[in-house]
Amino acid sequence: ARQALGPIRQVRDAAAEITGKNLNRRVPEPGTNDEVEDLARTLNGMLERLENSFETQRRFTADASHELRTPVTAIAGHASYLLRRTNPTAGQRESLEAITSLSMRLGRLIGDLLDLARADAGFGVEPVETSLVALAEDVHLEVAAIAGNAEIEILGSRDLRVSVDPHRFRQVIRNLVQNALKAGSSRVTVEVVKQLEHVSISVIDNGSGIAPEHLGKLFDRFYRVDSSRDRGVGGSGLGLSIVKWIVEAHHGELRVTSTLGTGSRFE
Ligand code: ADP
Repeated sequence: ARQALGPIRQVRDAAAEITGKNLNRRVPEPGTNDEVEDLARTLNGMLERLENSFETQRRFTADASHELRTPVTAIAGHASYLLRRTNPTAGQRESLEAITSLSMRLGRLIGDLLDLARADAGFGVEPVETSLVALAEDVHLEVAAIAGNAEIEILGSRDLRVSVDPHRFRQVIRNLVQNALKAGSSRVTVEVVKQLEHVSISVIDNGSGIAPEHLGKLFDRFYRVDSSRDRGVGGSGLGLSIVKWIVEAHHGELRVTSTLGTGSRFE
């Protein structure tokens, strides 16, 4: 009986290790010319079809990203050309400025949607040894232009390195710091702390704070606390769902505490 079951066990063990990230693997076909071999061959046929459909999905996402982004960038470029090189009336100028800012917003929205599409398609992150403090410093430089008089402070050691995807984690810090600024904070602190068995990074602000009834839904796609106000500043309600995806893809945990009128802490 053991001899007969051996090939089934090998097929089972190989099948158990196949996930969305190694769909190019196949189970062994025992060459026994019986039902077990038949089963293994059927499983491999199914894996082949799954692999192809993942690949189609991946290619679609990449192509859609390119196809959507290109015309949007061109629209913004043309509007900005007309603003700089012609002599528009006040009314025309207003329209051209609206076209510029709306197309830039559309560009960001496309980027966010594609990130979430990639997350749904099972795309992972690519961790390398990284300094979170260095990433926070990058973000500080990027957001300086929109920070106004708000002060951004970064606490922690640059030498503390963790294994994270630097591109994605910069995106996490950027989204959180931008949210803190949009909430009207005069001071935003990014703090990196070595804990016993992990490293934590927190973005702490003294902005508007968030009422308790919203906290549970904050990470849902398209959820905005005050949709009428946020529409004006370009919020789509996708920022925090992207943060959540990235943190979870790193097997991390995301916590938020907030007091209305005092400020928030995203850890
Ligand atoms: P958005 O693109 O609208 O910023 P997010 O998913 O990043 O979307 O945030 C969802 C909502 O949570 C925002 O509309 C905002 O009202 C609220 N929010 C997020 N971060 C903060 C914060 N630090 N302080 C106050 N409100 C916040």
